[in-house]
Amino acid sequence: MDWVRGEKLGQGSFATVSLAVPRGRSSCLPPLMAVKSCGVSHSSSLVNEKLVLEELKDCPEIIRCFGESFSCENGEKLYNVLLEYASGGSLADKLKKSGDRRLPESDVREYTKSLLKGLRYIHKVGFVHCDIKLQNILLGPNGGVKIADFGLAKRVGRKSGVPGCELRGTPMYMSPEMVSAGEQGAPADIWALGCLVAEMVTGAPAWSSSDVAGLLMRIGVGEEVPAIPGILSEEGKDFLGKCFVKNPSKRWTAEMLLNHPFVCDQEDLYGDSFAALKDRREITASTSPRCPFDFPD
Ligand code: ADP
Ligand code: MG
Repeated sequence: MDWVRGEKLGQGSFATVSLAVPRGRSSCLPPLMAVKSCGVSHSSSLVNEKLVLEELKDCPEIIRCFGESFSCENGEKLYNVLLEYASGGSLADKLKKSGDRRLPESDVREYTKSLLKGLRYIHKVGFVHCDIKLQNILLGPNGGVKIADFGLAKRVGRKSGVPGCELRGTPMYMSPEMVSAGEQGAPADIWALGCLVAEMVTGAPAWSSSDVAGLLMRIGVGEEVPAIPGILSEEGKDFLGKCFVKNPSKRWTAEMLLNHPFVCDQEDLYGDSFAALKDRREITASTSPRCPFDFPD
């Protein structure tokens, strides 16, 4: 695959991301792509990312991968992975640009719903992302969510995850089972999603501590959960409560959360007939086995 490197888009811990323009005409490639590159000597996580993305095709909420290539630039041998270009930047950029660093709850609901669709797909195929955070959630040209940075992603055989692996990920988003037992399963992504939702709503990380060791003690040993932001609607507070269940096997799954009223329009569940029904309490309490949410009085 022949392409030309364009302007730099972002910098990660090991990799640099730039625009990539395919050389010549190719009917199967878009006119603009992103290329994630790093030196071949420390390319293991980028190779992992490419292999995982190849198994996660066909989900609009996940960044697409168009292949890999090697190049030699400024005397360095590089490994490159060609990706769908997410022209809207990351959710972290979006928060920075919004005046008070936070997003309206209506936007947060939409982003959360798309993230859940992406996570449901990732978990169904048998992977865990392991690094869900604002910087790794990108936005497409129409503002749609594109989950990116699968460098730490891995396959898990069981829902509850793999115990005993090393501590990997970003401390602010780490789940209690990850910190206390090195257990990285699908529920850890849901915990991280909860941290991300709290951050989008308040503009501040779910944890305010900058003392990483102390924070890990509070999460893993003290079994603390992040504070639920007071400015959230009751539905939002309940949603976060389901993400921050300490026991990973009792934490709600992406599939379950997609039916939570924070992200689920009642029309999604009941069709147009819902519009005729005025009392949401009545319909939720009496007819919804899939929506186990208690509306507050
Ligand atoms: P790392 O694994 O090193 O953290 P990421 O994949 O998270 O690298 O990319 C780092 C940054 O580069 C992202 O936060 C984003 O700003 C930018 N970036 C990454 N992939 C793309 C893409 N496909 N389109 C546009 N920008 C991207
Ligand atoms: Mg990243």
